[in-house]
Amino acid sequence: MTRLYNFCAGPASLPDPVLATARDEMLDWHGSGLSLMEMSHRSPEVVGVVQRAEATLRELLGMSDDYAVLFLQGGASTQFAAAPLNLLAEGASADYVNTGQWSKKAIAEARRFGRVNVVASAEDSNFSTIPPQESWQTDPGAAYLHYTPNETIGGVEFSWIPDSAAPLVADMSSTLLSRPLDVSRFGVIYAGAQKNIGPAGLTLVIVHRELLGRAQPLCPTMLDWKTAADNESMYNTPPTFALYLAGLVFEWLKELGGLAAMEAINRRKAGALYAAIDGSDFYGNPVELPSRSLMNIPFTLADPALDKLFLQEAEAAGLLNLKGHRSVGGMRASVYNAVSEQAVAALIAFMQDFEQRRG
Ligand SMILES: *Cc1c(COP(=O)(O)O)cnc(C)c1O
Repeated sequence: MTRLYNFCAGPASLPDPVLATARDEMLDWHGSGLSLMEMSHRSPEVVGVVQRAEATLRELLGMSDDYAVLFLQGGASTQFAAAPLNLLAEGASADYVNTGQWSKKAIAEARRFGRVNVVASAEDSNFSTIPPQESWQTDPGAAYLHYTPNETIGGVEFSWIPDSAAPLVADMSSTLLSRPLDVSRFGVIYAGAQKNIGPAGLTLVIVHRELLGRAQPLCPTMLDWKTAADNESMYNTPPTFALYLAGLVFEWLKELGGLAAMEAINRRKAGALYAAIDGSDFYGNPVELPSRSLMNIPFTLADPALDKLFLQEAEAAGLLNLKGHRSVGGMRASVYNAVSEQAVAALIAFMQDFEQRRG
């Protein structure tokens, strides 16, 4: 068996030990004679797995009980609608920061359900910067302030948490669990699982309990966060197997030393890759230095005519999914938690070799 290096933006790499445990437990979970996939979500076994996953997540993030943890489906994209449906009373408006493709989708969806005020946009810089908070045109009456801490496609991220009187709502799909986080600064955090949390099919929402129970009358039951909070994410059938895998990922993180240890590894990985890009005239990254993403690192070749060859040779060398997003072009290496330092070292060695041969 060969495991290749996977730089996919999502669904992304999962830790080898997590996949190995899932393999070992696949047919007979803990001597039960069943696969966990085959069990009722209301069985003590599955309820226990979900409770343990939540407890480990709370421990990793050091989160207070003022926050509800919801395990949902529909991806972060469904939360683009759920946020306004849960938080925007009739006639109210919400503030949004536009820092890239995912912000734009969140804004477009929120506009279907209420008034949206775009407080700042980095579109003029082709999304290579984060607009400083002093420049934001916020509305003092806004129901909430929404932003995207890490723009997965542009590879641009906030190195700071905005100050906000209104509850802060964050799409953390591609950055949650990559480092410690002060959850108490936020009203709502949501994330699709398939970057740093687990397999696709699971969506995580962390919501301050005081924001529950405010949904618009038309909000579907399944999108009302209170439904999930009141039913411990078991109002209907949750994605049990994805939840089990997420729980194993949380335990893997804990064994590694928690989020501070993860951050140190992630900073070494990103630091090495940016140094390789910046140290060469052949490779480039368009993002302003303080706003470069730790998780998603786009890079271009001096001669775009070589892009295809680069990707072909990278794949032949066991380095997969390096093609940049179609809206940006070039390459992108996503170096989420489960992408090892060896994987990044192999990528850098390949890049240097390619430059020598073709540059
Ligand atoms: C991947 C991603 C999404 C989309 O997530 P889905 O779970 O596919 O809906 C949204 N926002 C960000 C920042 C992402 O990285």
